[in-house]
Amino acid sequence: MALLRAMEGPIVVSGDFVLRGGRVVDPANGIDEVGDVGVSNGVITSTSSLKSPDILDTSGLVVAPGFVDLHVHLRQPGKNDRETIASGTSAAAAGGFTSVLAMPNTSPVADNAGTLEYIRRIADSDGVVNVLTCAAMTKNIEGKEMSSIGGLKRAGVVALSDDGRCVQNHELMRHIMEYSKTFGLPILDHCEDDVLTGDGVAHEGFSSIMLGLRGIPSASEELMVARDIILAEMVEWKVHIQHVSSKNSVRMVRDAQKRGARVTAEATPHHLFLTDELLKSFDSNYKMKPPLMSEDHRVALVEALAEGTISCIATDHAPHTATSKLVEFDYAPFGVVGLETAVPMCLTELYHKGIMPISDIVARFTVGPARVLDLPLGSLSEGRAADITILDLEKKAVVDPDKFLSKSRNTPFAGREVKGGVAATIVNGKMVHGGLTKI
Ligand SMILES: [Zn+2]
Repeated sequence: MALLRAMEGPIVVSGDFVLRGGRVVDPANGIDEVGDVGVSNGVITSTSSLKSPDILDTSGLVVAPGFVDLHVHLRQPGKNDRETIASGTSAAAAGGFTSVLAMPNTSPVADNAGTLEYIRRIADSDGVVNVLTCAAMTKNIEGKEMSSIGGLKRAGVVALSDDGRCVQNHELMRHIMEYSKTFGLPILDHCEDDVLTGDGVAHEGFSSIMLGLRGIPSASEELMVARDIILAEMVEWKVHIQHVSSKNSVRMVRDAQKRGARVTAEATPHHLFLTDELLKSFDSNYKMKPPLMSEDHRVALVEALAEGTISCIATDHAPHTATSKLVEFDYAPFGVVGLETAVPMCLTELYHKGIMPISDIVARFTVGPARVLDLPLGSLSEGRAADITILDLEKKAVVDPDKFLSKSRNTPFAGREVKGGVAATIVNGKMVHGGLTKI
């Protein structure tokens, strides 16, 4: 027996191999049963058609479609001290993600074909997992002038977002939705009213008042969620709410979905599992946008995730250097890393606590995001690219930022004991993280 391991970058397991005896969880196809998965030349194939494949033991493990993260800041170009496409996609592989959607707030902003071509070339040469690109919907993410959406579509982007900012002009947002409908690009929106947010740094509530931190009312998010739903229904197009955090936003999304509106939403592990009570430490690793909320909002998010109103778990992986975060809370930048902690935290908090079955958790990382982008990702159907995430539900660890493959360490989960993690990550038939035993 030999242990096949991805030690130094991607290795080809072989042309053909079979993942034998794992619990195959493929929500897109309604499958949750012990079985085998065949791979031939990087493509999912029926095991019976393989001549003499390598046999890899996945007994006791969960074999799932490759996880897709809709919300990742890879920082390249321009902010390579925080992250690069190489380091960010290495972190993604370690976290079980086979595809990541790169947010456009790089420097320069990904609002033009040239910058997107640059990102594409670096992703082709340095990327460890699939890098999907998202373009800014307004030029330089200034919220003033619409980007050239047709040209961006031709440049290969799969979505539009001004993440980090929010278009304040409702008429401009209406036109962006009309154009994005014409070109078939989903809009992913960071919902925030700039005036209500002001210079706030924390959720406006008991904690912010007690600690003397300037508050951001939850209405800041809710107003723009309402605006987006109203415009999406008027234009008859779809909108995806990024990092939803408020119970009232969730209620509006749920009601809109019941009416048949094409509104989807994602939640981040930090909003699902943490609250603003933690701010009493004044640790800037609890500072992000939207801010950590109170327990009532957090509980509503978890309920909405479990019922499917929130169809995606996304990390909002936002690397910052240690020195930039090592300042007073008020002055620290917003954002935390998440690629290497999302799966262990979700398995610990949702699966092992009996809140969601494993099939639903896998769905939120696979078919949920694939449907937002309307791309052939997130399933183990024959003929699809062999992007596969293999989970060990019993693997125990303590979150240690020093072991991250990301260049940045700004996690709110340091020191957490977790149960459940990634055993191996396979992208296009190549093992890019972890190891499996050959039998
Ligand atoms: Zn954002």
